[in-house]
Amino acid sequence: MLSTKSQITTGFLLSLSVALMLFAAAINAGAQGRSAMSEAERVTGDTFTISVRSPKGANIYAVSRPSATMMEAIDKGLTDLFAVARKNGYRKHLNYSDYTVFIAKADRTKNAAGEYSPDIAVGAAQYAGTQYDQGGYIYAAGMVVYFDPSAFVIAEHTKNFNRVSDVVRYEGEHLVLYFNDRRRYEATKDHSKGGGHPILQ
Ligand SMILES: [Zn+2]
Repeated sequence: MLSTKSQITTGFLLSLSVALMLFAAAINAGAQGRSAMSEAERVTGDTFTISVRSPKGANIYAVSRPSATMMEAIDKGLTDLFAVARKNGYRKHLNYSDYTVFIAKADRTKNAAGEYSPDIAVGAAQYAGTQYDQGGYIYAAGMVVYFDPSAFVIAEHTKNFNRVSDVVRYEGEHLVLYFNDRRRYEATKDHSKGGGHPILQ
């Protein structure tokens, strides 16, 4: 999920935002034996020393101990994801324990308009030269880093936890599609040429 100049201008952060899949580098590296943890560390530059389970059983790794509210927001995002996945006929990979969430340090907590928007800065890759490009990097609200186990990175939040639930649901859409509908996954994984979230209605 990216943060764009248009979002900054309009302030419709979530409605206009799209999620990010920097799939190529991460997944190719994964095939060569990198772990989800090493991928998350490589992408964020953080060290995830805290390991906890959410109340519903999602695996959480974090730079500092997540609040109960943060973990509940993660669970809610997964609950929403599983509901819309079932509505679309998808049955695989719908357990909380199937998902690993890395909570990284936010590289910014406000967007250019001054709105609360904890995001992580990641290499621009296929987004280089697009509206998202901040000069070799982009700001992302969330990013898939691994498939087996399914893992994505989000930024620490201290408020606006609905945004956490949305980011979790949106990043999770890519993973649900990967395991249930590979064709649709391929068609929606890269937002650099358009397309965003929600994918599943
Ligand atoms: Zn996305």
